[in-house]
Amino acid sequence: MQINGIHHVTAISGPARRNLDFYGRVLGLRLVKKTVNFDDPGTYHLYYGDAAAAPGSILTFFPWEHAAPGRLGVGETQETVFRVPAAAIGYWAHRFVAQGVPHDAPVKRFGETVLAFRDPDGMRLALVGVSGIEAEAAWAGSDVPLEYAIRGFQGVSLLVADAAPTGAILSDVFGFHEIGRDDTLVRYRAEGAPFGDIVDLRVAGGFLPARQGAGSVHHIAFRAADDAAQDEMVRKLAENHGIRTTEQRDRNYFRSVYFREPGHVLFEIATDAPGFAVDEPAETLGHALKLPAGLESQRARIEAVLPALV
Ligand code: ZN
Repeated sequence: MQINGIHHVTAISGPARRNLDFYGRVLGLRLVKKTVNFDDPGTYHLYYGDAAAAPGSILTFFPWEHAAPGRLGVGETQETVFRVPAAAIGYWAHRFVAQGVPHDAPVKRFGETVLAFRDPDGMRLALVGVSGIEAEAAWAGSDVPLEYAIRGFQGVSLLVADAAPTGAILSDVFGFHEIGRDDTLVRYRAEGAPFGDIVDLRVAGGFLPARQGAGSVHHIAFRAADDAAQDEMVRKLAENHGIRTTEQRDRNYFRSVYFREPGHVLFEIATDAPGFAVDEPAETLGHALKLPAGLESQRARIEAVLPALV
């Protein structure tokens, strides 16, 4: 069955070891896959998520040891937002102080409390306190108490010059619809998704264009249940919006097409199938370095150039 919403968010970071320390230890996410950038196999591709490595919880990074910092601008993801139980915001504010994580004072957005913070590369992140999600499963493998742990994404906000063309893609192709406006923000939600169901379009004229680098989101992937659902989305993009996607690429854990949406953000359509347990047991996700079949013969050479993670 097709469930809409965000599948994953992929960003660029500085050193892999620092990235793992922040997302694994400080935020308490599960490292659900340790592999390489298929297009640049001398660098890691690290995937973080919830206990089940579920679509809508997956944040991935291309860590480059010497990545230059990015500069936020129009046509880019402005903020990536995780859900926590409403009562957890105080815990996280204290944790950020104790861990030296730069953060803002909590603010209200659409009636919910939002705590914005930055990762070590300056990537803009936030926690939103959501009522009634305490009983949802969370990853128990970190020192963050379960009652406060992250429960997947709420969503992302995109900085665009004009909300309408991007909103049309979200509505017509990805099953979102507009649910509210707040100043310069237009909020879209995908009905039926357990999380990863919100995209906020922040209209910002006069900003400089983005420059990608460490701390930048590279792309946002939306869910397609399977190849047929993806094909249907590709057809709608072409017929209704005049947008062509790339050919499908096999990313081992999902199959993907990519396109630049009208606001210039790079979008991907990723299949839910086959998922992250396709090449290692669900219990030990992220423990071993996994390589696609085509790179397995180069394992020794790849392992020799990858930086140490601990
Ligand atoms: Zn992706």
